[in-house]
Amino acid sequence: MRELLHLSKENKMRDSSCWKITYNEFKIREEGLRESLCTLGNGYFATRGAIPEALASKIHYPGTYIAGVYNQLSTHIAGRTVVNEDIVNCPNWIFLTFKIGNGEWFYPSRHGILSYQQELDMHRGILTRRIRFQNHKGQKTSIETNRIVHMADPHFGAMRYVITPENYSDWISVKTTLDGTVINGGVPRYSQLNSKHFNPRSSGSFSRNGIFLTMKTSNSNIEIAEAAKVRLFIGQKEIRPKMKCLKEKKERIRHEFRIFITKKQSCRIEKIVSIYTSKDEGVHNPVKQAIESVQNARRFKSLLVTHQQAWERLWKRFDIQIKGDDFSQKVLRLHIFHLLQTISIHNLKIDAGLPARGLHGEAYRGHIFWDQVFAIPFYDLHIPEISKALLLYRYRRLDKAKENAKKAGFRGAMFPWQSGSSGKEETPAIHLNPMSGTWGPDYSHLQRHVSFAIAYSVWQHYKRLGDFDFLLSYGAEMILLIAQFGASLTKYSSKDGRYHTAGTVGPDEFHEGNSTVSEPGLKDNAYTNLMIVWTLMKAKEVLSILPEGDRLQIMKRLRLKDKDLHRWDDITKKMNIVINDDGIISQFDGYFGLKELDWHGYIARYGNIHRLDRILKAEGESPNDYKVSKQADVLMFFYLIELSEIENIFKRLGYSFDRDTFRKNFDYYVVRTSHGSTLSRFVHCFLAQLLGGPRESWGWFREVLESDFYDTQGETTPEGIHTGVMAGSIDIVIRGFLGIDTQGDILRINPSLPKNWQRVKLRFRHKDRWVSLSLTKSQIIILIQGPMTKPVKVPVEINNKLYNLFLGKSAKISPKRR
Ligand code: BGC
Repeated sequence: MRELLHLSKENKMRDSSCWKITYNEFKIREEGLRESLCTLGNGYFATRGAIPEALASKIHYPGTYIAGVYNQLSTHIAGRTVVNEDIVNCPNWIFLTFKIGNGEWFYPSRHGILSYQQELDMHRGILTRRIRFQNHKGQKTSIETNRIVHMADPHFGAMRYVITPENYSDWISVKTTLDGTVINGGVPRYSQLNSKHFNPRSSGSFSRNGIFLTMKTSNSNIEIAEAAKVRLFIGQKEIRPKMKCLKEKKERIRHEFRIFITKKQSCRIEKIVSIYTSKDEGVHNPVKQAIESVQNARRFKSLLVTHQQAWERLWKRFDIQIKGDDFSQKVLRLHIFHLLQTISIHNLKIDAGLPARGLHGEAYRGHIFWDQVFAIPFYDLHIPEISKALLLYRYRRLDKAKENAKKAGFRGAMFPWQSGSSGKEETPAIHLNPMSGTWGPDYSHLQRHVSFAIAYSVWQHYKRLGDFDFLLSYGAEMILLIAQFGASLTKYSSKDGRYHTAGTVGPDEFHEGNSTVSEPGLKDNAYTNLMIVWTLMKAKEVLSILPEGDRLQIMKRLRLKDKDLHRWDDITKKMNIVINDDGIISQFDGYFGLKELDWHGYIARYGNIHRLDRILKAEGESPNDYKVSKQADVLMFFYLIELSEIENIFKRLGYSFDRDTFRKNFDYYVVRTSHGSTLSRFVHCFLAQLLGGPRESWGWFREVLESDFYDTQGETTPEGIHTGVMAGSIDIVIRGFLGIDTQGDILRINPSLPKNWQRVKLRFRHKDRWVSLSLTKSQIIILIQGPMTKPVKVPVEINNKLYNLFLGKSAKISPKRR
């Protein structure tokens, strides 16, 4: 019991190695990956972990992204004009360098590095770099830089740059900028597209030591203002050198100053920046606001204290402590850290979704996909207000989704596959195959299943929290409109007495259609069809939960008639799923007729075959013709929906299904999947855990953890982290290894820990209660806390046995092994 109460104390006495990511060398090749992994952010904005002395180049990419700040640009390419919306790379605030005497401006790789260390401390949310170097005159200097992006006040970024001459005294010059000359240049594949997203508005100086810069995005007209204040300290004394303020073009503003530093005396330069935009709630004049707040900003060390406290509060809720496996511990923390930097409590005031690649890079243009479905549980279990904010991002775009459906000839609400600022479809019409250098059509927008994933998240959020108000105010409308859309995707055929869909693409994006048919899209994609059935069944449940008056009112408002509901019900009984005699569910109608790929041959020829679609297309072939999947498609349904529910659905549809069918389908598809998406591995891992426990899932789990940490897909993580796989890894621990199910009124725990995990500790929400768990293979210590209005007994099911626990009193249970 004491163990539980001292969760946070133990945090402080932490084994520092599991809180830190440390690099002991400067490696040009790895900079891009490190920059992504060392990104600092707070949900409002994030800045890549680039070194302060470098501008964007092939090696470095100091990007800064503000949640929800997008801009559209058009480019004439491949014979057509394409319009793309991108998350905007905002002015670079971190640039700072210095020179000794008349020497060269410092840049680490050009000088004689004596030692180099870069360290991300996830517990404190601070990025530190320590360098010792020697120039050609033999002058040795040590430099320490610390950087934060403030978690409590989301508009602040701060940097401390400490220069210590080890064996000399000399003049040093320092220059630091706010740089609006930046473009969106982080993804080489997009380099042929226009990428200059803003125009200068104004720049200048304020007080003695402040500079500011404001830019306006060229199409979305968002004003972005940055104000910076630079202070200088030697020992405890503040030095006030004369600062030159220079404007370079209209887009870059620079401070320069000189000071004399004496041997072994550290000179601390502090640069505090404040960032505001015209999108911020209650901000009328972003530049005025930025200047005012930076003028009032306290010193770096004070900001650091409040920043760390904010992180401490977050870790108390979100940390998962694992004893016996340092690698898993460290990487899971890294995943939690980056998810919290992408979407945080600040999102309650921001109109933004969860970008698939975080606020960490420009891949997928900062767009929001269905990946959100994998992250909602993570926020639900700890700060459900955050998941609600994510779902409201979709709710606010419901009208657009209705418009999208109507335009495409459907009813209800159809959410876009890629979403940005407005909720319209942002999937590019064409994309570049880097293997062949050619542009080809992109049909991925036909992934209509994104809407059902949103309905799924809404329902899950409601079930996990029991938040009926949410369902009444927003959720019901979303689920019903999505159900209406799903129903309108289907067509009844009197030939076979079944409903069918056509023209969709499933999660496996390699199959976009039938090579012999000119219309893109697939017939009866099983995943899409099953998700439609699931959504329609939930829509029915929603209507049955709503009080009579609300039910009638919403049906009237959405123009839902009884005949619609009858049709919905009919679809849930007669949707077509193609299943062969062995019980294998066909990914889509026609899949079984495709060719088998020579997997060994391709691996031997190409090594990395994750992106078989690009390989096959570059060879003049089409992935449409082969049984090759980018990621789980049929199997995705097994990941999202519980087996008992799947059994019901299949029964209702008149098909047979059991655990054996699940196993057969897993074995069939796993060998035909290239895992070209990082989502693929954690889905397979989870399913392997369901089928065979940690023994079968462990290898997958390691691969999931290594995915971003080592960039195993190859050159993708440098362009941004993968929020889906990060959230997925946590889901495996919570739903998979710990077997925690918070959906029902009774909390269920069915653990089956990996071999070397000696103990796991965590806290999470179940409805309006907090549960603290400490779990070993033989014992569970559990403490449930919540409103103590009366002495309450809480039923908890552990390994299928019901226990009645007292609220506020911890219990030690030694359950029988599964
Ligand atoms: C996957 C999608 C995913 C997207 C963003 C693609 O590679 O196939 O399922 O939503 O990446 O992560």
